[in-house]
Amino acid sequence: MKEIFLLKLGEIVLKGSNKRQFEAKLRSNVRRRVKPYGEFDVYLMQSTIYVEPMNDEADVDGAWEACKHIFGIVNICRCRACEKNLDAIFAAIEEYLGDDLDAARSFKVESRRSDKQFPLTSIQISQHIGGLLAEAHPTTEVDVHNPDYTVFVEVRDLAAYVHGPAVPAAGGLPTGVGGRAMCLLSGGIDSPVAAHMIGKRGVEIECVHFFSYPYTSQLAKDKVLELARLVTKYTGRMTVNIVSFTQIQEAIRDNCPEEFFTLIMRRFMMEISARIAKQDGCGALITGENLGQVASQTMEAMTVTGAVVDIPIFMPLVGMDKEEIVTIARRIGTFQTSVLPYEDCCTVFTPKHPKTKPTLGQVVNAERKLDRQALIEEALANVEKVSVIYGETEPFC
Ligand code: ATP
Ligand code: MG
Repeated sequence: MKEIFLLKLGEIVLKGSNKRQFEAKLRSNVRRRVKPYGEFDVYLMQSTIYVEPMNDEADVDGAWEACKHIFGIVNICRCRACEKNLDAIFAAIEEYLGDDLDAARSFKVESRRSDKQFPLTSIQISQHIGGLLAEAHPTTEVDVHNPDYTVFVEVRDLAAYVHGPAVPAAGGLPTGVGGRAMCLLSGGIDSPVAAHMIGKRGVEIECVHFFSYPYTSQLAKDKVLELARLVTKYTGRMTVNIVSFTQIQEAIRDNCPEEFFTLIMRRFMMEISARIAKQDGCGALITGENLGQVASQTMEAMTVTGAVVDIPIFMPLVGMDKEEIVTIARRIGTFQTSVLPYEDCCTVFTPKHPKTKPTLGQVVNAERKLDRQALIEEALANVEKVSVIYGETEPFC
C-alpha cells in the first residue's frame, strides 16, 4: 500500500464562480513543483489535492518539502492509503502510525466519510478503530477532549486514508491567479519579505535590482540573486532584471543638490522599474518601504517617488515593526542572507542631511539639469535578465 500526500486547499474553497479556475491553476502549480522529484500523479477531488508517487524511484521526501511551500495550500499530511474496510484501516494505522501512538500519552480517532456508501458513520468508524487501538496500545489512554495525538481516518471515493496530524503549509492563493508584479529587490531584509507577501496573494513575482559597479561589488549582486532564489522556494520561477545604475548615480551626484540625492535616485528606480514592469506584463510594483524607517520613507517622500509611476505600488510592510518583518524573514529563510554585510547602491552618495518633507516642485526643480529620459533609455537598453528557481538554480553565495 502506498504513501500519498493530501494537500488541503485554503481560501480557494471560499471562492464562488472562480473556484474551478483557481483549483486548476493550483493543480498545475503542484504538478510543476513536484516534477523535479520524480513521477507523481496529481489529482483533485473533494477540495483536496492528492499527490501520489507512481514508482519507487520517486523522491518522496523531496516532494514533501516542495509541497510545504506552495501557495494556496493551508495544510498537508502524509497518509497511507488502504482498502475501504475496518480491518485494512486498522492494519494500516498499526503499521504507519503505531510508533507515534506508543509515544503519545493519550489519543483519539477522528473519522471523515465523504463516501456516503460506506456502511458505517464517521462516529462508528472512530469508535470501532479507537477500541482496537486502545487494546493494541495499553499504555496510551483514550482522551476524546484533549488528546496528545489524533489519528485521522478518511474514507473517500477511491480508498481510505490514515494519517497523523496535518502540518501547516504556505497558505495564501495559488501563484498566478492574481496577475504579475515587479518587486524592487535590494539586498536588505525588507524587500524579499515584501515579495513573499504579495506572492502569497497569488501574484507571480518578477524582480528588478539596481547595482552600481564599481561602487557596489559583484558579491552584493550575488547576494541579491541568492535572495531572489530563496524567494522562489515559494513563488516559483522568476526573472531578475539587473539594471546598471552607476551612470545615473554619477549624474545625480554631479548635477543635483545633495539633500535630494536619495529622492531623485528613488524616482529613477521607480520609473525604470515601471517601464520594465509594463514590458513584462506586470500590473504593479512592490517595495519593502516602511513608514518612518528612513528619511526616504515619509509620506511626503513616498508622494514624490510615487509620482513618476502610473501603476499601483504595493508596500505590504508599510505599517509593520522591524521585529515583525524579521520574524517573517527568518520563517521564510531569507534573513541569514539579508544580513550578509554587502553594500547597496542606496548607501552610495547618501546625503548627510536628506530632505524628509520634500514637495514635488522642489524635487522636479532639483532634477532640472538632468536629461532624465535619456538616462532612463540608456539604463533600459542594458538590462541583464537572470532566471532563477529554487531547487534547480545553484546557490549564488
Ligand atoms: P530593504 O531592507 O528592502 O533594503 P530598506 O529598509 O533598506 O529596505 P531603502 O534602502 O530605503 O529601505 O529601500 C526601500 C525600498 O526600495 C526597498 O525595500 C526596495 O524595495 C527598494 N530598493 C532599495 N534599494 C534597491 C536596489 N538597489 N535595487 C532595487 N530596489 C531597491
Ligand atoms: Mg536597503
